[in-house]
Amino acid sequence: MDRMAFQLPGGFVDDDGQVHYRIILAPLSGFSEKMIAARGQTQAAVLVTALLSRCIDRIGTLGEVSEGMVRRLLVGDRLFLLLKLREMTFGRNIQAVINCSFPDCGARVDIDFVTDNIPVTPSPQQALWYRLQLTPAAGGQTIIFRLPNGGDQEMLAHQLDSDEEMAADSLMARCVESIDAVYLPDLAGIAKLSAAAKTEIEQEMERLAPRIGASFAAVCPECGRSFTAAFDVQEFVLAELNTRLDLLLKEVHYLAFHYHWSEKEILGMTRENRRRYIEVLSAEMERLNHAF
Ligand SMILES: [Zn+2]
Repeated sequence: MDRMAFQLPGGFVDDDGQVHYRIILAPLSGFSEKMIAARGQTQAAVLVTALLSRCIDRIGTLGEVSEGMVRRLLVGDRLFLLLKLREMTFGRNIQAVINCSFPDCGARVDIDFVTDNIPVTPSPQQALWYRLQLTPAAGGQTIIFRLPNGGDQEMLAHQLDSDEEMAADSLMARCVESIDAVYLPDLAGIAKLSAAAKTEIEQEMERLAPRIGASFAAVCPECGRSFTAAFDVQEFVLAELNTRLDLLLKEVHYLAFHYHWSEKEILGMTRENRRRYIEVLSAEMERLNHAF
């Protein structure tokens, strides 16, 4: 498959404040698949940065996409791109296994859907910074902030596991540019905000950010009850890539053995192309077997 163009649901703000919406994605090569599989223990956000920086060809008029730029993409935009990359590489159909949400059951439930059913809520950005006037009840301060991005995700992932409240404050300290006239508030400055103030800032961030969400109704075949399940796009796509190293090595071996291509040549191909050659080979072998 060739490169494809997409419209970011949010947008990338460059150093000059210009917003870029159009993005060109290249499909995953065998190299990227191998990189992901080999780095299975790496923190998810770091992995997504590495993956996207390999596959994003252009952001708007900006070529030479660095990891630094990918870190500055909004959380929702990164998720959107991960989903598009998955579509380009493995297609639109998703078969996943979730667990029945009733604790007394917890049976495995197979779900089957197409990626088009995952709702995307665009929120085209105009600039990096936003201004929010808190209500008097929340303290009434003027807050200048930006939306959370990939760099924030990378920094906060380990904190989220240990202390959720601390992580929320750290995120706010990273995203808030000023509180009234106080610039670059530290963690102590954020901690001084009222709970109502933090809620208002968080809600405003959510309202302004592009969102990729998936939850759907499922019926448990075991207990017959219906429930709503969340589908974590990032977790699913990374797990899917992670489990395929054995298969990838077999494919490389098979093609190298028969075509005498180098590993480098084979890994430079997309999965689609590898599979095509393997199909041709299998058909040919089948034909030869029948001939004898
Ligand atoms: Zn059940």
